[in-house]
Amino acid sequence: MQIKAAIVSERSGSFAIETVELCEPRPDEVIVRVVASGMCQTDLHGRDGYFDNPYPAVYGHEGAGIVHAVGNAVRGLVPGDHVVMSYPWCGACANCRQQRQNYCVHGRSLKSGGARADGSTLLSKNGAPVYSAFFQQSSFGTFALSQERYTVKVRNDAPLELLGPLACSGQTGAGAVLNVMKPQPGESIAIFGVGAVGLSALMAAKIAGCNPIVAVDVHDWRLALARELGATHTINHNACGDVVAEIRKISGGVRYSLETSAVPAVFREAIECLMLAGTCVLLGSARKGSEVTFEMPFLQQGRMVRGVVQGDSVPQEFIPRLVDLIVAKKFPIERMIKFYDFADINLAAKESSAGIAIKPVLRMPL
Ligand SMILES: [Zn+2]
Ligand SMILES: [Zn+2]
Repeated sequence: MQIKAAIVSERSGSFAIETVELCEPRPDEVIVRVVASGMCQTDLHGRDGYFDNPYPAVYGHEGAGIVHAVGNAVRGLVPGDHVVMSYPWCGACANCRQQRQNYCVHGRSLKSGGARADGSTLLSKNGAPVYSAFFQQSSFGTFALSQERYTVKVRNDAPLELLGPLACSGQTGAGAVLNVMKPQPGESIAIFGVGAVGLSALMAAKIAGCNPIVAVDVHDWRLALARELGATHTINHNACGDVVAEIRKISGGVRYSLETSAVPAVFREAIECLMLAGTCVLLGSARKGSEVTFEMPFLQQGRMVRGVVQGDSVPQEFIPRLVDLIVAKKFPIERMIKFYDFADINLAAKESSAGIAIKPVLRMPL
């Protein structure tokens, strides 16, 4: 079928909305009419060649929409279902078999290889391949093809155009708190960086009853939003001489800290602000070769540092749980969203990179 998709023709090129051909679904695949798609830094990293993916390419991995067609082996979805397309996994490797699919050993190639696992492409233009299947979905289009396994049905009374970000940034931040840290009410947390991931974590920390909740960022306007969404204390990193001392003054050292900035010096602060036996979770996606140092005796005191991908979320369970929280107005994701028409995708990318839009969401034309 013919669809419109935002094509990047060369490394760091701009997005151009063009008509392309989307292939028919295989037995375990579904075609989704994309209603709205979040934009994540990872899409722009793809555009800019971080993953050595081929061009021309279509990105987008936070798609929400309505099932349009299903392959003949699909049992759990029917046309008309409201869905969120989550991250892909192979389903067969050692981690996938333990329901740790967010650490699928084939995850990287499935996310950024530009094709299905067997190398086939989903899109073509005038008979030539267009590399898509970004996170096995490429949601920067009016329709997207995904597998049933990671296409999550959601309640149809929820505001669908808000739900795309749950596929990546939402479950990454909220899952780090609710699935990994699992804080008790009254436990302390410090969140470094309150972009889309950090704010999702912050809203989850509020739901869990954390106190204090300390937000650290370099933008006062983001810190003001963090306070409205549940931060009890905020620290502007640029204005504070010693962030670790300030957090210790507030909390005596935090039980949990979350690093989303990918800046090594900030990661070290996120470790150094921990109390004895505290846990630091790293979400910030640093470039290969980035290193950090900290004192060995400090870690010896029962402190733990670990990286987490996609919030250790099992999407079929966790995304509907987050949707329920949105409907109950406990996870006000709309506060971080800025909507753009699909035609304004380059503006969305620019404002995302400039930090003007925390979470751009593209509305697709009917
Ligand atoms: Zn796997
Ligand atoms: Zn993402």
